[in-house]
Amino acid sequence: MKIKLSDEKQIECVAGTIIKDLIDHQLTKNNLQEIIAAKLDGDLVDLSRPLFTNTSLEPVTFDSAEGKKIYRHSTSHVMAQAVKDLFPAAKIAIGPAIEDGFYYDFDLDRPFTPQDLERIEERMKEIIQQDLPFQRLELSKEQAQKIFQERREDYKLELLKDIEEDTVSLYQQGNFIDLCRGPHVLSSGKLRAIKLLNVAGAYWRGDEKNKMLQRIYGTAFATPEALTEYLKRLEEAKERDHRALGRQLDLFSVQEEIGPGLIHWHPKGAIIRMTIEEFWKKEHLKRGYQLVYTPHIASRKIYEISGHLETYQEYMYSPMDIDGVPYWVKPMNCPGHIKIYQTKLRSYRELPIRYAELGTVYRYERSGVLHGMLRVRGFTQDDSHIFCHPEQLPAEILQVLDLVDFMMSTFGFDYHAYLATRPEKSIGGEEAWAKATTALREALSKREIDYKIDPGGGVFYGPKIDIKLLDALGREWQGPTIQVDFNLPERFDINYVGPDGNRHRVVMIHRTVLGSMERFIGTLIEHYAGVFPLWLAPVQVLVLTITERHIEYGERVLQDLRNNDIRAEADFRNELIGYKIREGQLAKTPYMAVIGDREIANGTVSVRTRKKKELTTLRVEDLISKMKKEIADKII
Ligand SMILES: [Zn+2]
Ligand SMILES: [Zn+2]
Repeated sequence: MKIKLSDEKQIECVAGTIIKDLIDHQLTKNNLQEIIAAKLDGDLVDLSRPLFTNTSLEPVTFDSAEGKKIYRHSTSHVMAQAVKDLFPAAKIAIGPAIEDGFYYDFDLDRPFTPQDLERIEERMKEIIQQDLPFQRLELSKEQAQKIFQERREDYKLELLKDIEEDTVSLYQQGNFIDLCRGPHVLSSGKLRAIKLLNVAGAYWRGDEKNKMLQRIYGTAFATPEALTEYLKRLEEAKERDHRALGRQLDLFSVQEEIGPGLIHWHPKGAIIRMTIEEFWKKEHLKRGYQLVYTPHIASRKIYEISGHLETYQEYMYSPMDIDGVPYWVKPMNCPGHIKIYQTKLRSYRELPIRYAELGTVYRYERSGVLHGMLRVRGFTQDDSHIFCHPEQLPAEILQVLDLVDFMMSTFGFDYHAYLATRPEKSIGGEEAWAKATTALREALSKREIDYKIDPGGGVFYGPKIDIKLLDALGREWQGPTIQVDFNLPERFDINYVGPDGNRHRVVMIHRTVLGSMERFIGTLIEHYAGVFPLWLAPVQVLVLTITERHIEYGERVLQDLRNNDIRAEADFRNELIGYKIREGQLAKTPYMAVIGDREIANGTVSVRTRKKKELTTLRVEDLISKMKKEIADKII
């Protein structure tokens, strides 16, 4: 039997050889990382599997995404075993690996406490100590049913019902059995560094009509050092959580009585948004965009033409009846922009036409996935639709990328770009796809932007570039998209008159350069950890008086600053100056201007910045011009 280990290396072995033994003899020396599973002709399998046919074998280590998944999924089985040991009444639901960790859902009639998590973790460590092998069992569906009936695992029985195959695989370690495709690590002892993180509610199968289960989250790493490093990063991320900072800095809230996923912008959050929106509008006008406004609701007719009722209705809120016609709250801004374009016959000389709108849309998201400002049900896209003829496409995409790059560097984000190409199911001719994809690719190359290809990741109606922002902790966040569309121009019959006097189909680009105001500002809060640069800070300078006799001068300074478009607030309360400064610090105020007798005598203020604790004395007009320059330059 021949086993191909790499392009250069092929070995002979007898039928029935266990992968593990083969690896011990052939591969271990070359791999510093422990091998935890294998890929046979591309399929992931357990190391305990015997080999019976010629195949190619690739070792899988924790380093790879697949390796991490197997390792963490195995840890979730160990956690479920520990939970069953300690809480025999708990029923097990599902327990997959996720980004950076794993979870398992349990049905138990009392909530897990933090102390429970500690006990479960201790028990897991005992199970790991016992080094129990993960055994794969392949059984008929009936046999599996019997096992889970005996164990009263109702959720597993429900999952079994949905499996069409006659044979299913189960994994057992110790007395614990789970319905599972696998693969897994060889034995529990392979799991070296584990940590349980928290508990949250989760509906069975993500459906709020079902029972709420308890989801325990945890993570696992190949070494204790890597785990410690990760936990440290998690702690940093917690300190940057935009929901906590949003409360602390009084930026936004979500009101239960109004509804989940709907953001209320408080004055301080609103001023940040307004500042960004003003900047955004100016930048767009500079670059030849035209700003438009479109209504928030639209009738059935438009969504029949656009195809939203066919393909997108599950994300749209139930219609309201107006004079017997159903109207929907808009989930997208495109139809309105198209209708504005179509109010006239357009000549090629008018193209490209670039309509931009800070357009508020509403889309249904399951309540379980809502997350602060990042996953919401109503949001304002910084949307634009560009109508051009095919030859203009490369230049337009390049211009959009320029704008994206400019925006990202203004806010201090690095980013990754992904080029999503044609999926299997798609519309539009081969040539149009090739041209559009080339245009996207060449624009990325011209801008010298590194990008990854997301093969087949495009939407059915055209290729796109997805931009993922990288924040201060190196985390990726969903950002702008540049989407070419061959579909809506057809559906809406969008044309221009060419030099030949005939009508031609336009090419349409949907694009955002920030994403949405909610998601972008939520991301910004985390990126800056609430320490907004001066140009965005809700309060740019706080005027502080030492005693009552300084208030009159303080009022004048305050007004002076405001007259110069600087967002100034005052704290003239009869409190100790140290206390007032402390409050200003907690609010992360960039500048504080302290006023006492000496300042009044000299016409100055004593300035304290976030970066520099020592006070420097400045004349008021010098403070103003210094701040105005920093604001104009958008210094980060
Ligand atoms: Zn499993
Ligand atoms: Zn659109």
